[in-house]
Parts: sequence; C-alpha cells; structure tokens
Amino acid sequence: MPRKGEVGNFRSRKTESKYITICDFTNPWNFFQLFIVGTQLGILEWLQYNGLIGDDLPCWRESCGGSLKLRKKSCIDGYAFRCRKDKNHEFSLRKGTIFDKSHYLVADIMVFIKVNIFLCTITQKHC
Ligand SMILES: [Zn+2]
Repeated sequence: MPRKGEVGNFRSRKTESKYITICDFTNPWNFFQLFIVGTQLGILEWLQYNGLIGDDLPCWRESCGGSLKLRKKSCIDGYAFRCRKDKNHEFSLRKGTIFDKSHYLVADIMVFIKVNIFLCTITQKHC
C-alpha cells in the first residue's frame, strides 16, 4: 500500500525493474520506468517473474530433456529461448504466451494493455 504522497510521485518510483510489482503501478512512474525507459532484458525478466512469459522451461523438442534459457538473438525481442543441451533447439520466447503471433514489441503490448485497463477503470467509475 503506497504511503501518502507516494502515488504518482516521481521521487518514490522504483528504478530497478526486478523490484517493481504490479501493485507498484499505482505510481505511474514505476510503469514508465519499467516499460518505457527500461532495458529489454529488464522487461523480459519482469515478464518472466510475473508469469507472462516462461521461465525455467523444459525444451519443447520431444525427447530432448534439456531446459531452456534466455539468450540474445537478433529478433524483435532481442532474446529467444535456447536449449542448454542442444544449441540448435531455439524457440521464440512468445510461444504459448499472450504475445504469441504478435509482431509488436512486448513493451508496446504492455502499454496498450495498461492504457486500456486504465480507461476501463475510469469508465466504470463514472458510469
Ligand atoms: Zn533441446
């Protein structure tokens, strides 16, 4: 629960993405810090921590038995999952997530979701 004067306060924003929780979005500067000025890796780690993309997944190739880890790759996300056992097993980090089949940046999708949820909340309050 934010203390008095913390909601919307730039000085009370959290600057490290790993310490930002969904509850911290009551201060819009935390959302801004994470998805607008944050690093791509910081965004992806936050999405992993909050269950929006996979973390510590088994390899999706049948009978491999390896596990997947985020690795840099020249693609829209800048990262992909690569199998620790076989480097040829590489998968989009979006596979099976809400970001699957989208060609937008995950940060842009999160901003879109936040803005629309915010608008719905405002609409509900005034109806
Ligand atoms: Zn594998």
